[in-house]
Amino acid sequence: MAAKKIKTVYDVICPFCGTLCDDLEVDIAENKVVEVRNACQIGTKKFYSSNPGEHRYKGPMIREKGELKQVSWDEAIDKAADILAKAKRPLLYGFSSTECEAQSKGVELAEILGGVLDNTASVCHGPSLLAKQDVGQPGSTLGEFKNRADLVIFWGSNPVHAHPRHLGRYSEFVRGYFRKDGRNDRFIIVVDPRNTHTAQIADMYVKVNPSEDYELLNAIRAMVRGVELDATEVSGVPMEDIKKIVETMKSCKFGVIFFGMGLTHSLAHHRNIDAAICLTRELNDQTKFLIIPMRGHYNVAGANQVFAWNTGYAYSIDFSRGYPRYNPGEFSSVEVLLKDQIDATLVVASDPASNFPAASVRNLFKHPLIAVDPHESPTTANADVVLPAAIAGIEAEGTAYRMDNVPLRLRKVKDAPGNVLTDKVILERLIEKVKEKRGE
Ligand code: SF4
Repeated sequence: MAAKKIKTVYDVICPFCGTLCDDLEVDIAENKVVEVRNACQIGTKKFYSSNPGEHRYKGPMIREKGELKQVSWDEAIDKAADILAKAKRPLLYGFSSTECEAQSKGVELAEILGGVLDNTASVCHGPSLLAKQDVGQPGSTLGEFKNRADLVIFWGSNPVHAHPRHLGRYSEFVRGYFRKDGRNDRFIIVVDPRNTHTAQIADMYVKVNPSEDYELLNAIRAMVRGVELDATEVSGVPMEDIKKIVETMKSCKFGVIFFGMGLTHSLAHHRNIDAAICLTRELNDQTKFLIIPMRGHYNVAGANQVFAWNTGYAYSIDFSRGYPRYNPGEFSSVEVLLKDQIDATLVVASDPASNFPAASVRNLFKHPLIAVDPHESPTTANADVVLPAAIAGIEAEGTAYRMDNVPLRLRKVKDAPGNVLTDKVILERLIEKVKEKRGE
């Protein structure tokens, strides 16, 4: 039997988390992924998920008499465009796991429809964006942290599980230009209510009480300014430990805070990030210190960039008055769904049914739902129209922004199965059809 011909694609970017590792090698045989080198387990799994399987859609579908049935692309696009064109206030949501060129088409479609446009930042790092708008953000590229940081603080983030190669590429045991001894040249602090696996490999674990980060951050700020606090502990952290944190921060050469959703989603939300950014700014009177969010979806940073270039706003945008308005908490997807203020939804590359509150999911399912996704999910399983997409970064090229806002070019390593289209082409066809239906 002849051996399968294997093609190896080098320097592939992993389209899973915001670390966007760019050194993967992927072996392809008969248009299937047969081996992935250099990726972590979750990144590897994403590449294998592109192979044909029971959860992978091969063609578009429309719900009829309660069942999804295969139809042609013309029929599916027509049905989806009909739903959108008839809606008074559609919601367009998702966009963080696709490429920037498709995100831009999503903005165009939302503007034409006068709908609400949102990405997954509204349920993850939205508070970080609000804080950045309030007080700025002293940040840098991941390469600078790798080469210079001798103090690394993970606050409310657990990269061992969520960004596994971040530690080896940028923040823990990697050798940097000025940190030649890798792990031995860095002091690692983890602040978290839970003794996570990242906390277990740190030099210092700070167990903060749940939702009391704000008080701890402000106690540290006061002590950095030389204020003596009349307390034995703050937020469950003994004063001796807080003094040690302050001294370590002031005496380092280059410090960085990598914060995650443990900080953005504990009580005080964006005020936590305000306080963390102000602390970082104040530390720059004593040494060099920077701060950066650990972005989850691989291109949520790109969604914020693309939405902001086009509308002036990064997420939670309403076009119902013919121009973009921004008000998280009023135009966020969860809010408009909870208040039942939308009458149709287009979800692109996301699965809100799995992670939105149950009351908003009930309203999501109450109105017509269109899902653009490569795989079956709780959202697609309840959709009226399923438009199957090629997986960006595996089956389609495009641009994505790493968590430090560095744009990188995603590579195509194989063809998509069946007759699926890219997210960008699907959105272009929807724009064309919606315009035709409206006589534009
Ligand atoms: Fe992919 Fe993130 Fe793992 Fe890197 S750390 S291989 S980007 S999932």
